[in-house]
Order: sequence, then C-alpha cells, then structure tokens
Amino acid sequence: MNRKIIIAAPAKVNLTLDIKGKYPDGYHELETVMHHIDLLDQVTIETAPSGIEVASSSSLVPDNQDNLAYPAAELILKAYGSGEGVKIYIEKNIPVAAGLAGGSTDAAAVLTGINQLYNYGLTQEKLMEIGLKIGADVPFCLYHRTALARGKGELLTPLEKEVKLLFVVVKPELQISTAEVYREFDLAQVEKFPDISSFLVAWNHYNIKGIAINIVNVLESVSIKKHGEIATIKDKLNKLGALNAVMSGSGPSVFGIFADQKIAEQAAAVLSQEYREVFLVSSYNSAY
Ligand code: ATP
Repeated sequence: MNRKIIIAAPAKVNLTLDIKGKYPDGYHELETVMHHIDLLDQVTIETAPSGIEVASSSSLVPDNQDNLAYPAAELILKAYGSGEGVKIYIEKNIPVAAGLAGGSTDAAAVLTGINQLYNYGLTQEKLMEIGLKIGADVPFCLYHRTALARGKGELLTPLEKEVKLLFVVVKPELQISTAEVYREFDLAQVEKFPDISSFLVAWNHYNIKGIAINIVNVLESVSIKKHGEIATIKDKLNKLGALNAVMSGSGPSVFGIFADQKIAEQAAAVLSQEYREVFLVSSYNSAY
C-alpha cells in the first residue's frame, strides 16, 4: 500500500541583506539575516514503485523536471534509494518568483519528506549538503533557526535567540528577474547599508523597534529604481502603522514589521483592497 507524508514548507524573508563582494563565477557574496515566516506551501509526498511525478495547485509552477522539487527527489532517491519513486503534490500558497524562496522551500520539504518516508536516516547536515546542489537558499530552508547567512547564502550561523515577529507581506504583480537584479547591482547606488551589529544587539534584546529600524536591503537600490511600486508599498505599510518596511530578497515582495496585531490586521485589510497577494503572518519556528 502507498504511504504518504505531508510537510509544511515555510517561506523566508531577508531581515537584512548586504552584498560584500563578487566571486569569480559571477555570484555575489552575501551577508543576510534569513527568517522563516508562517506562510506555508503544503508538500505531499507519496511512495511510488518507481519514477518521480510532480504536480501543484498553481499554473505558475512547472509540473515537470523544472520544478525544484524534481531534482531534490532525484538527488536523494538516486543516492540513497534502491529504485523506489515518489509522487509529489505541492499546494502552493507562497507567491511565485517573489523573493520568498518558494521553490527552495519546496525542494527542502521534498528532501525532508523522502528521508522520513523511506527511512534513509540522513542527518539534517547531510540533507543540507544535498540541498546546496539544488540552490544556495535550500540549506537555510532545511534549517529550523533564524540565521546569518554568508557566502552565496549557504554558510549559516544561527542567531542566539528566536524572536517572534508580526509581518504584513505584500507581493505586487511585478515580474523581477533575480539574475538581472544581481547583475545590475552597483555599490555606488546604495543609499543605506545594514548595520548588522546594531541589528544583532536589538535582536538579542528582543527589541522589536530596534530590529525594525535595522531592516535594510541593499538590493532595493536596483529594484526600486526599476519599479517605483516597491517604494510606494513601503510607504503605505509605514503609513498604516508598520514600525518599518523593506523588500525581501531581490523582490518584489515587501514586508512590514508590526508591534500590534490589531494595527497589522487593519493594514492587511486596507492593502488587500489594492493588492491580490497580501499576507498577515508571524515568524515560523517549530518551537512556537
Ligand atoms: P528566491 O527568494 O530564492 O530568489 P523566489 O521566491 O524569488 O526565490 P521562486 O518562487 O522560487 O522564486 O520561483 C522562481 C522560479 O522558479 C519561478 O519562475 C518558477 O517557475 C520556478 N520554480 C520551480 N519550482 C518551483 C516551485 N516548487 N515553486 C515555485 N517556483 C518554482
């Protein structure tokens, strides 16, 4: 009889994002605080005698080998299986191509799910090593902590504490190419850099105002220049009571941090009249 497992796959936001340099292969060297949020895809994985099938609830996500879930399944089944296969179904709730690591978290969920379903007994470190072959964000998606990520995003140091934050996330209907944003990044155009020491002091004191003041993303210098809408959403979030608002990853999603649930609910309600994809979410941590 077929067995199945359902894994919750959380999105991430970058609370800070800085670029420290460039590697010879063209990739940028990052320093970014990554944080899981309670905006979840639901990934169902079912045993199959052989092969890999991928399907999802979204027409924006490929139902074939281009889905990041596919290489995740292929890598782990080839290395640790003995011919068995899987059927994967992704209930997509995370906006696609949004700067929220939707594809990477699905790939991470597939690795976790297949490891459990077939009892391969692989450690989290091993899964992260396999995940890195799929993408630089996948190791973080397998990591159940808020982390300072360096390198291409794969060198993770956990923050000392976990702080539960309240967010309103807005994903405008803009198409942004991550590759293009990084290609066009120009240090000279950056107006504000993250102060990671101040961020960490605030974080370690559970100082939500201090954390909010220190959310900064240098990639806004590229994305906002092309899409003024991103700056408009930041303004709107601030006017609606956010302590501060910033773009996640290479965008176009913008999130505001709120201190008060009621104010956040009202802000989300107002923004929902204008934007189709608005989410009121909190931090995601299996410990909560
Ligand atoms: P990141 O924050 O890591 O840059 P993102 O949130 O900007 O990622 P994704 O949602 O992962 O971007 O989607 C990027 C592209 O990957 C999309 O164009 C989509 O077609 C493709 N893709 C492949 N697999 C998936 C998946 N499981 N979920 C979402 N997108 C996927």
